[in-house]
Amino acid sequence: MSALEWDYAYPELREGVRSVVSQFDSRYWQEVDEARAYPEAFVQALTEAGWLSALIPEAYGGSELSLIEASVIMEEINRAGGNSGACHGQMYVMGTVVRHGSEAQKQALLPKIAAGELRMQSMAVTEPTTGSDTTKLRTTAVRKGDRYVVNGQKVWTSRLQHSDYMLLLARTTPIDQVAKRTEGLSVFLVDIREAVGKSITVRPIRNMVNHETNEIFIDGLEIPEENRIGEEGKGLRYIMDGLNAERIFIAAECIGDGYWFVEKAAAYANERVVFGRAIANNQGIQFPIARAHVNVEAASLMRYDAARRFDAGQACGAQANMSKLLAADASWEAANVCLQTHGGFGFAAEYDIERKFRETRLYQVAPISTNLILSYIGEHVLGMPKSY
Ligand SMILES: Cc1cc2nc3c(=O)[nH]c(=O)nc-3n(C[C@H](O)[C@H](O)[C@H](O)COP(=O)(O)OP(=O)(O)OC[C@H]3O[C@@H](n4cnc5c(N)ncnc54)[C@H](O)[C@@H]3O)c2cc1C
Repeated sequence: MSALEWDYAYPELREGVRSVVSQFDSRYWQEVDEARAYPEAFVQALTEAGWLSALIPEAYGGSELSLIEASVIMEEINRAGGNSGACHGQMYVMGTVVRHGSEAQKQALLPKIAAGELRMQSMAVTEPTTGSDTTKLRTTAVRKGDRYVVNGQKVWTSRLQHSDYMLLLARTTPIDQVAKRTEGLSVFLVDIREAVGKSITVRPIRNMVNHETNEIFIDGLEIPEENRIGEEGKGLRYIMDGLNAERIFIAAECIGDGYWFVEKAAAYANERVVFGRAIANNQGIQFPIARAHVNVEAASLMRYDAARRFDAGQACGAQANMSKLLAADASWEAANVCLQTHGGFGFAAEYDIERKFRETRLYQVAPISTNLILSYIGEHVLGMPKSY
């Protein structure tokens, strides 16, 4: 199936998502961006329509869609001019509970997430001092009887102020006491409502995008043992298990952005008359837009391949990483072309381009930076030495 045919695949799903996201127009996103506010009405509408519980099993109240279908939801949000970053965590953070949580944890959380009564869209992994070198993270969880006491610091903990629960990765066995440094890390469910203002201090980070993200300071946070997910010491593996899905989601968002930029650029090029003719007549304008479109289509095919493998339970690490890299590059190229095509007007907030330009730039860095993807491909796909 070509990317163009895929584009028309899942027409009912696309139509359903569009019917919700089309209620939130350009003016809505501009106002939210200007106020640096959380797009609460948008997230609430998606929640009520059931789109954010797409990956929750039916047994727990979700719609149990495939990852391909879930990726189409993300794509459609961004293609309509919105920003999935405000809520994509609600779609996949709970995946760790689905895959590795106890039955009691699933029963306690998943039906409420599916019903929109509870938000769990925050994940605290990154730390300021260790960055991408996750195994060296310094936040510790020390066992005291039937509880763990957590101390440490996290950075870029997104959507925390709009979550009830977050996932936290912390070291439970010191790094010098484990056979492999990937061991000895554990993942916990943290009830933020109880902890913030007491053992968790939140410092919001004003950033380039209108993205609610924070630095957090954890001081003596007590977590009951039953809130540890899976076995002690295996937390990094549980988090890693969810990363392929996350990469494919981000790829889909970039693809949605890419289509938005390309379509906006082509439409403007056709209507903007300079020197007596539409600027689209100039190859210097037309070809970059055409090339950007080609790259978005190619990235989309890789996304579908990765998602199809994921849904079939096949190994998809290489494809998930490649699709994220290709899609982030394609959307960034399309963003640049769209801005250039609009000349000065591209910088005016009312055209939405400068906002989407900032938003899509993030995906060269987060949730995994381009260099780290290339090092994964170099090492795991091409058999070259680990370069770090
Ligand atoms: C808006 C935003 C939201 C985020 N949300 C979350 C969140 O919700 N939860 C969370 O846990 N994290 C979150 N992050 C963090 C994000 O995952 C990290 O920023 C990202 O993984 C990169 O890590 P770093 O910023 O520490 O960069 P560093 O690890 O310090 O790297 C800096 C630069 O050096 C490069 N680099 C590092 N090592 C090597 C090497 N060996 N070879 C080549 N290049 C290298 C990197 O590619 C990068 O370009 C968010 C970040 C942002 C900006």
